[in-house]
Amino acid sequence: MEPLNKTIQKMMQGRNIAADMDQVMKQVYQDPEVRDFLTRNRDHLTKENIRRGRSKLYEFFHEKQLIKAGKATVAPGYSPQLQLVAGQIDVTYVPTQQLLERRHQEHLRHLVNSINMPRFIRRATMDDYFLDDENATVGRVAAYDAANDFIDHYQAGHFQPGLYLTGSFGVGKTYLLAATANELAKKHNVATTMVHFPSFAVEMKNSIKNNQAGEKIAAVKKSPVLMLDDIGADAMSAWVRDDVLGVILEYRMQEELPTFFSSNFSMDELEKQHLAISNQGIVEPVKAARIMERIKFLSREIEMNGENLRKKG
Ligand code: ADP
Ligand code: MG
Repeated sequence: MEPLNKTIQKMMQGRNIAADMDQVMKQVYQDPEVRDFLTRNRDHLTKENIRRGRSKLYEFFHEKQLIKAGKATVAPGYSPQLQLVAGQIDVTYVPTQQLLERRHQEHLRHLVNSINMPRFIRRATMDDYFLDDENATVGRVAAYDAANDFIDHYQAGHFQPGLYLTGSFGVGKTYLLAATANELAKKHNVATTMVHFPSFAVEMKNSIKNNQAGEKIAAVKKSPVLMLDDIGADAMSAWVRDDVLGVILEYRMQEELPTFFSSNFSMDELEKQHLAISNQGIVEPVKAARIMERIKFLSREIEMNGENLRKKG
């Protein structure tokens, strides 16, 4: 048989739990949101309903406390809400503002597709675009204004030429394109595809074997906004020029889809020094001119000048 004092101890503990619970429930019933809920629904709630809903009221109160204390909850990212379901008190969980915001940010990130682009493009914003004294060169300001203009006037189904940003290595061409893409996602919910063109060309060449080049080109060419980065950085084969670049540009011109470019070369240099000469050494000025005609239809050239920002670290 159990010693008597132990039994008493147990009884006492049991009493304490009940007493503690009463104490907690007192707090629960004093919670402004609980009170508000009970008042709002007083016509539909009997004493018995409320008694049966005690554990739900407690759950609601407890979860709110956990959230406030920054502790783990049953459904992270969701906050509890009291509800009356068929006369019974219940708790439902709705996404918190933070969760909604996080989802929205994710959605925006998914709108900007990138192929072989540097990681920094995700963080690029128009607000952070360097425009302090030493960086406010004529070319950088002009490019920034033109990009903002494009963003402001963007309308799906309404053609607007993109930008052809030219300038030396490190002036921020890629950054500005990325900031534009992120802003278009935020303001217009529009999807942009950013492609590092030289790597894409290599990928296409490797995809010929398994017949996937066509599919990939088709996906890229249809993007609502397309940005071809670093065009002309590597020598192109006639195939890449005509069957990859040419096909993409032809489609975008026909469909009047906004297209951006960045290049270390001006349009003129790109045409004469790159597009006209294939990496097999064959000179084809007429084919180069045809491609350039499309690039010119699709975009406006802006020369960005300034320091190499990569040195800034
Ligand atoms: P480009 O494409 O002209 O060669 P990038 O856009 O790659 O130049 O810019 C060079 C470097 O400078 C990148 O590492 C980029 O992160 C940084 N950079 C450029 N512009 C900005 C900016 N406005 N704010 C922050 N970093 C920038
Ligand atoms: Mg670049």
